[in-house]
Amino acid sequence: MTVDVDVNRAQDPYGEALERFAAELEGRPAADVLRWAAGRYAHRLSLATGFGPEGCVLIDLIGRARLPIDLFTLDTGLFFEETYALWRGLERRYGLTIRGVAPERTLDEQARAHGDRLWEREPDRCCRIRKVAPLEAELARVDAWITGIRRDQTPQRAAARVVQRDAKFGIVKINPLVDWTKKDVWRHIVEWDVPYNPLHDLGYSSIGCRPCTSPVQQGEDDRAGRWRGSAKTECGLHGSATVPCRGVA
Ligand code: SF4
Repeated sequence: MTVDVDVNRAQDPYGEALERFAAELEGRPAADVLRWAAGRYAHRLSLATGFGPEGCVLIDLIGRARLPIDLFTLDTGLFFEETYALWRGLERRYGLTIRGVAPERTLDEQARAHGDRLWEREPDRCCRIRKVAPLEAELARVDAWITGIRRDQTPQRAAARVVQRDAKFGIVKINPLVDWTKKDVWRHIVEWDVPYNPLHDLGYSSIGCRPCTSPVQQGEDDRAGRWRGSAKTECGLHGSATVPCRGVA
């Protein structure tokens, strides 16, 4: 998997505009980037959150500034109880709605079609049904989306820009925290008393669905607890493809 930054210039006829936005916004506070995005993309803009620390920071910035940005989460039906509680807590705290986007198939329907506990046998297919397909449907309705990815999270994300073409979905991807470190994220959470998932205090550094998430040991990579024991490291939400970009004009 690669982050398609150079595609901005190489394949996208609007790449120059994105390059200019990225250059202008590089190093700007995340709140400014969000304000810019809300102004530029208005009702054709969404934030997808999985309620990680970065998502909580973005919701805090959006909520306190009262920015009119659509918020949603891909509700696989398999979140931890703590994650569902955090979802409701964030809505209460900031007086906003975070839409739950459900997969086309319920867990029972998925089990009938593909067998029980698909995540143990075919996690890619399970993520495809419960996360990637619903995300594709949501992003087909917008010109830009906001994510919480940071350059220091994975080697694939190291070249991410604050604004870039998302070649996988053919829209613009805005990464307001791209130059933040993990420490920056937690400093913001503490400073602004932002609600976060209490499982982080129990050794869970990256939290996804209950069956595919475990705590990490000291010295392990932050994402080592996701799909432990398998080669899988990503849901497939951030990746590469070659769809023409819309939403730049
Ligand atoms: S993280 Fe696990 S349970 Fe959740 S959608 Fe992916 S494979 Fe299925």
